[in-house]
This record gives sequence, structure tokens and C-alpha cells, in this order.
Amino acid sequence: MTASTPLNPALTTWTGHEGLPRFDLVKDTDFAPAFEAAFKAHEAEIDDIAGNPDQPTFENTVIALEIAGDALSRISSIFWNKAGADTNETIQALERDIAPKMSRHYSKIGMNAALFKRIDTLWENRESLGLDLEATRVLERHWKGFVKSGAKLPKEQQERLAGINETLAGLGAKFGQNVLADEKNWALFLDSEEDLAGIPDFLRDAMASAASDRGQQGKYAVTLSRSIIEPFLTFSDNRELREKAFRAWIARGENGGETDNRGLIAETLALRAEKAKLLGYDNYAALKLDNTMAKTPEAVNGLLMQVWEKAVARAREEEADLATLVAAEGRNHDVMPWDWRHYAEKLRAEKFNFSEGELKPYLQLEKIIEASFDVAQRLFGITATEKKGVAGYHPDVRVFEMRDASGRLTALFLGDYFARSSKRSGAWMSSFQSQHKLTLKNGAVGELPIIYNVCNFAKPAEGKPALLSLDDARTLFHEFGHALHGMLSNVTYPSVSGTGVSRDFVELPSQLYEHWLTVPDILKRYAVHYRTGEPMPEALLDKVLAARTFNSGFATVEFTSSALVDMAYHTAQAQGEPMALEAATLEKIGMPRSIVMRHRSPHFLHVFSGDGYSAGYYSYMWSEVLDADAFAAFEETGNAFDPGMAQKLKDNVYSVGGSIDPEDAYKGFRGKLPSPDAMLAKKGLAA
Ligand SMILES: [Zn+2]
Repeated sequence: MTASTPLNPALTTWTGHEGLPRFDLVKDTDFAPAFEAAFKAHEAEIDDIAGNPDQPTFENTVIALEIAGDALSRISSIFWNKAGADTNETIQALERDIAPKMSRHYSKIGMNAALFKRIDTLWENRESLGLDLEATRVLERHWKGFVKSGAKLPKEQQERLAGINETLAGLGAKFGQNVLADEKNWALFLDSEEDLAGIPDFLRDAMASAASDRGQQGKYAVTLSRSIIEPFLTFSDNRELREKAFRAWIARGENGGETDNRGLIAETLALRAEKAKLLGYDNYAALKLDNTMAKTPEAVNGLLMQVWEKAVARAREEEADLATLVAAEGRNHDVMPWDWRHYAEKLRAEKFNFSEGELKPYLQLEKIIEASFDVAQRLFGITATEKKGVAGYHPDVRVFEMRDASGRLTALFLGDYFARSSKRSGAWMSSFQSQHKLTLKNGAVGELPIIYNVCNFAKPAEGKPALLSLDDARTLFHEFGHALHGMLSNVTYPSVSGTGVSRDFVELPSQLYEHWLTVPDILKRYAVHYRTGEPMPEALLDKVLAARTFNSGFATVEFTSSALVDMAYHTAQAQGEPMALEAATLEKIGMPRSIVMRHRSPHFLHVFSGDGYSAGYYSYMWSEVLDADAFAAFEETGNAFDPGMAQKLKDNVYSVGGSIDPEDAYKGFRGKLPSPDAMLAKKGLAA
């Protein structure tokens, strides 16, 4: 690059330990001019590829695209890391500016007709190009990406598609804002002890601060945010108040007036159906599922209905148990949706008498990190060595070298474990650099994966050990499973590296990895008391594990009904009144009267506030099927670290990224397609 070289070379030429960026040399003010230059540089590269006078070849078109935009991706990776893990006002302002520019930049490339023509020619002639399987998939991805953005359509249909996309984006934003408004506008203020009966201290505190936020000092507010309404429904002894709050909660987006979402749903569904037809699909679900592991709406519905029947049967048993408790209190009413959580909690406390706090002294962060590394070594033969003194992007970040059995450096891993005010909530994995084997413009061949995990564990006081909850420990294993997907990647092309897989496959490596946390051999060694070094008592652990299947009929019915309604909306042949379709779907599957969908349509944000999980809510459960079935493969050998199975897992799942079809990848590992049996057993729903 010449004139368009970004102003600060530290952003794009990484000279730290083994090619790590020198974060200390980057200033917040460097980003804006660097992005400008990198957008231009990438555009010029794209123009060169599109305008190449030579006949299109895989080399001069697809490979050229794969390695183009190097500066942009380097600057982006540093920027988005900072935006998530160590932000400030300058970065936040930049984020608002960069995000739309980024989307315009990429949609412009997606509309480049000359570029598409080259890709389309290659796709038409793919049989004669002598491509291997991975190269063919990479070509297909590029081609489908263009086709789905309308590249094959005549001009006026392209314009219609652009119009639809724009309207959909606006509708999605409005939908989300309406739900938020309905949540904000409703609160129930309580002040008598009678109204507060049963409410534990932690919830009282939260309700008191919610009330004072709304200018009602000294009172307690029930609000519709999940963190208050759910514990309120769980603990409040006042049935009338529970009903009132519950009804308000499930009416979000359906209250009439300005913030009513029902009209937006109808409009959204009609536009999505039109878009699918324009692009040549039967319905929107078929469009969304193309390029996933599930592939078709029939496959998704098949899984959901199998689970549904077992879940409903179980929920009926649970309801009967709760009804017994209701009667024992001398009450004479059915178990209604506003009763379920309340009586389930009473039953839980009776059956599983322990607190999560009893586990904490046995779960030291340091030991759990060691455990996550030990599992990786036993399964995949890679070892982690901390490089003290190598600086990450924040003083809390720790840098590790990952080496294979022969001692070869295979990845850098950065662990950023503690919460801080500059970090957004949640936990995630991402990368600064992805593995691939192509020759870059500077002559370098391939790249080392540089992967990081960000968590939000409470930082202990000076000199005290960091202790985790069991959920925290699972999160650490989960994110490290994603990290391994990036670090063990062994593909040729960047776009299919590591986690570059479909949405219903990407959680397999992470959710599967969680299973090794509770393998007895690992717990015995690493879940030891921080003072005495004693391993966690088995009886305590057994109770914790048994409690995990409690109330699972209810939870599965809540989830699966939402997923089925999502599919019904996006496969319907005629777009009728959406709420009627919701009702008809629930009627058809026999939804119990005592349970309501986890997300009713007027506030189903996953499906209507954006496009991320439309015809895709199922994928949470799909991943659970995969991880349970995959771990069962190890259990069947009688050895959680069975070397043969581990080798197959690495060769077919953790190292292949998106280079092969996910179904084939899974079959390569397991020898067959996944069955939901192991997941049902894990949830306690097996026959
Ligand atoms: Zn995940």
C-alpha cells in the first residue's frame, strides 16, 4: 500500500510477541483516520479484482478476495476488541460512526456487479476448475453471499429488495423500542408488608432501587425486566399481585396504541415472505436455513416435535406435583402461569436443600483455568504456557503460548477474566488473527491464530483468591471451547477458519467442552477447597447435578413452543393475522394452559427486533442436541478422554472450521447423525 497506508503502522504491522499487536502503541484517536484509509485501500483492491482484464480464475478472484482487506480486518479486530472489553466515551462515539460505515462498505461490495459476474462464471464452471472440497465450499459461500444480496436479480427487483431490506431494518428497530417502552412504562409500586410477603432481601433491594429510579423513594417497584419479574413471580406469596404482574409481562408489545407491535409483525412477515420469493425460496425459513446444519424447515420441526411431546408429558407430571403443593396450602385453584414459578421454587427448596454458595470455596479461578488447559492437553495434545511480562490490551489480560505435542507454536491465547466498568457484560471469544494457509501480499505464508476469551468474574480483594460459581466455571469452559475451535483450526482459506461455521453448529465446540468440567477425574483434581485443598464432597456435587433437571418440563415447553411458533410464522403459505397464527399453532400442539411461551410474538425480540434468530430460535436446542450426543460418544467408550474419539473430534470438528458441510463433519466424528436421546436424558426427559 502507498498513499492509503494507515497513519499509525502499529495498527496493521504487529510487532509484539510472536506477532501480537503492540497495544501500547495504539491511541484511540488513531482509529478514525486508519479506518478511512483502510476502507479506501480495500475498495481499491476490490476494484482491481473486479476490473481484472484476465479471465476469472479461482486464484485471481476468490483467493484475491480472501486475502483482500487485510488492513481493515486488523484495524477492526483491535477496535472491536476495545469496544467490547475496554471501552470509553471516545471509542463509543467512534463505534456509532464506524458501524454504519462498515455496513455500507460491505453492502457496496455485495452489489458489485462486475465482481459477481466473475464469481458467477467460476461457479457455473466449478466442475472443470479442479477445486478440492474446501475450495469449492469457499467459492459457494462467496457465490451464495452475492445471490442472497440479490446479485442475480434484474435491476428493478434489486431495487425492490434493497427497499425491503431497508424497511425491515426500520421495523426491527421500532419493534425493539416498543418492547422497551412497554417495559419502562409499567411498574407496580408496593409499600405494605402484606404486598411484600415472601420477597427475599436481594429482591427487596432491587425493587427499592427500581422504585427510587422512578421517583418513588421508600417504595418497592415490580418492573417487567426479567431480573425483577422472574424472582417476583417466584417468591411473592400474594397471588393477586403475581397475576397482575404476570399479565402485564406477557402483554408487552400488545397494549394497543403507539407501542403495539402486532401491526409491525404482520408487515415484517409479509416483507420477509416477499424477499424469500424474490430470491427463489419457498418461504423465509427455507432461505434462512440454507447453509445451516439443519438445512430445511422439515428437519427443524421434526426435532422440535420429538422434544415437544416428551416435554409436555413431563410438564404435566410437574404440574401435578405443584397442584399437590397448592392443595396442601389449603388453596383451591388450578396451577396457572402466575403460580408455576412460585410453587416450583417451594418444591425445589424442599427437594434440593443446598445453596450455590456452598460450592464457591471449591471453585478457584486459577484452578479452573488449569483444568480447562489440562482437558485440552488430554484431548488434543496441546499445552499452554503463560508468558508473564508479555503485554495484552489491558493489565488484567494474560497471554499464553499454545504448543502441540512436537513443541510447535500453534496459537496465542489471551485470557481476560475479570469484570471492570469499561467492559460490557457477558462472556465471549473472538480473535485478533485467524488461522489460514494462504500467501499474503507481503509474502508471508499463513497466519497463527491469536484468540481471546473475555469473561466478567468478580475480581477478588488484593491477596484473596478469585472464587467462581458453578455457572462461572461452566462459562470459562464454554468460552475456552470456542477458543479451541479457533486455535486448532487447520484450513487453507480465512473465510472458513475456526468459528466460520453456521449458527446451528458454532456452539457445538463450546457447549461440548463444558461437559469435561464435571468429569469426576477433573473435579477431584481441580475443584479443591481454597483453604484446605480438600476436593469437593461428592454428595454436594451429586445434589447440584441432580437439581439441574428439576422443572425441565416447564422450561422445555416454554422454549419449544416459542421455537415452533417462530417456524410457523416463517413457513406459512398465507400471511394471515399473526396473533391468530400464534394461537392456532399453540392449539395444534396442545400447549398446556399453565405455561405461556417464553417469548410471545409481540415481544419476541430474537425473531422480530432484528433478523439474527428469525427461523433460528431453534438453534439453541439444536446445539444442545449436538453437544449431548457428542459427549455420549465418549461416555459410550467408558473413557471421557478416549484417545481415538478425541482424535476424531479434533479431525472432524475442532480443526475443520467451515471447510466441510457440518452434517458431514458430524458424521465423520460420530459415525452417524445426532439423535436427541442424549439431550432428552440430560434434561431428565428420556422415556
Ligand atoms: Zn457460545
